[in-house]
Amino acid sequence: MPRPGEYVADGTEGITRVEDLPKAKLVERSRNRRRRPCPQSDRSCYRHRTMQRTLHDLGDLVSQRPRDIRLIYWQHYCCKCKSYFNADMLDLAPPKSHYTHGVIALAVRLAVEDGPPYRAASWHLWRDHRVFVPYATIQNWVEAGGKKAEQRVAAEYLAAVDLDGDGDQDPAVSNRGSNSDAYSVESR
Ligand SMILES: [Zn+2]
Repeated sequence: MPRPGEYVADGTEGITRVEDLPKAKLVERSRNRRRRPCPQSDRSCYRHRTMQRTLHDLGDLVSQRPRDIRLIYWQHYCCKCKSYFNADMLDLAPPKSHYTHGVIALAVRLAVEDGPPYRAASWHLWRDHRVFVPYATIQNWVEAGGKKAEQRVAAEYLAAVDLDGDGDQDPAVSNRGSNSDAYSVESR
């Protein structure tokens, strides 16, 4: 165990193969409610069989190891729709994702701050947060998020347009104006 303030070199520096990186710590989580409402018919349905998926989470910084979540969940069967659906896991990760929301949010923030081609963000995630994400995966997240952000900006813009024509300043623009004033005062 290193003493406080002691410099400890990154033991993984120079490793080029993913297989050579330290093994992940495994944490188990489960979603095992006996009955769940069907997302289509809302009928309460019994569980049918267990499934599992692995999610890469932000790493353990004390042991310097990555952290994986083994998520055991139930698949339910709806006898009205004659179809299967999974227990709700959206609090942990998006559907079909191999990474948790925490990893995705941090990766996108680092990528936006460090900029393309995202190799720097990928290295930053490993060095400081012990999660390995290929830079192409980060690029996909940023591009998907960029489309959503564009839609959000467009929606905000439409919402802020002065529809009743009374000449009131729209709130989004006046907020932005006061923010930039505050910033220019502080930065002087
Ligand atoms: Zn159903």
